[in-house]
Amino acid sequence: MDFELGIIGAGPAGYAAAIYAVRAGIKTLVFDKGIGGGLAAISPNIENYPGFESISGFDLVEKMKNHASKYTNINFNEEVKNIKKNKDGFTIETDKSYNVKAVVLCLGTEYRKLNAPGEAELTGKGVSYCATCDGFFFKNKIVAVVGGGNSALIEAIYLKQIGCKKVYLIHRRDQLRAEKAYEQEAIDKGVKIIFNTRVENIKGADKVEFLELHDVKSDKISKLVVDGVFISIGEVPQSTLAKDLGCKIDDKGFVIVDKQMRTSVKGVYAAGDITGGLRQVVTACAEGAIAALASTESVGKKYPY
Ligand code: NAP
Repeated sequence: MDFELGIIGAGPAGYAAAIYAVRAGIKTLVFDKGIGGGLAAISPNIENYPGFESISGFDLVEKMKNHASKYTNINFNEEVKNIKKNKDGFTIETDKSYNVKAVVLCLGTEYRKLNAPGEAELTGKGVSYCATCDGFFFKNKIVAVVGGGNSALIEAIYLKQIGCKKVYLIHRRDQLRAEKAYEQEAIDKGVKIIFNTRVENIKGADKVEFLELHDVKSDKISKLVVDGVFISIGEVPQSTLAKDLGCKIDDKGFVIVDKQMRTSVKGVYAAGDITGGLRQVVTACAEGAIAALASTESVGKKYPY
């Protein structure tokens, strides 16, 4: 065995899992396809992680990274492409290959994309997936939020609150999915809700200039001039590796785990947003710790609890 435990994903769950695993005497390696931190890293302000009354997501995950790095190597920019069962455990395949006895999947979620033309090209140039991260840049400007769930309504209300000149909410159906209370608050705050409408195109030379909208009832195409568009149509768990391993997944794509964060595949654990539920930094850390200590049973070093 090269390592006893492979932790895939270096967000709060992965960092916590690494700290707990190494302290329990497990030879551990962490992988992240990018620079780590997960979605928490782009939260402008976290005010509910105990011990920090107010801290930026970036600063908090940076502290976690430094803390975890004291214990183990974290292979950033090394994407895990496949995990295969072998006779003693698993082979983790990146551009290299590593043998481990157990795996903790901490892959989190990513924002669901609209897949509209212009979306990818104009991301960061007026297209955003996070009003709390980027809303500030659109003060006194005209913005649209796409989506009809609680998150979209909260984003729209927030954007109005921070002083956007005009906020549209564009929803594909004739009814919102969000709770009525959010709908009412949005209307009271002056958010203009556009129903039965799909965003067909996001247009602009160097930045977002306007949206091409398709009214699905009348079949008419119209143009809406905006400075920014916030896409808030849910999150997608990054559960492909889990599925490929044969882990049971729920109907929303989250990995099903028991109280010890065991998946349905022996030796494979999951922690953090990929398991659904509350999806908070504090729960991700807690789940990472539980998964790491539970994995001691798979590496022959059972933790006495
Ligand atoms: P969500 O509830 O799944 O809503 C996603 C919205 O995006 C839906 O209105 C959906 O339309 C729309 N949508 C999905 N794919 C689309 C596409 N390709 N094009 C256009 N529209 C699309 O997601 P969420 O708002 O992120 O919330 C996730 C979960 O967290 C929910 O359970 C929510 O209740 C919960 N949450 C709770 C709170 C709270 O304070 N209570 C706050 C935030 C989130 P359809 O309606 O037509 O499907």
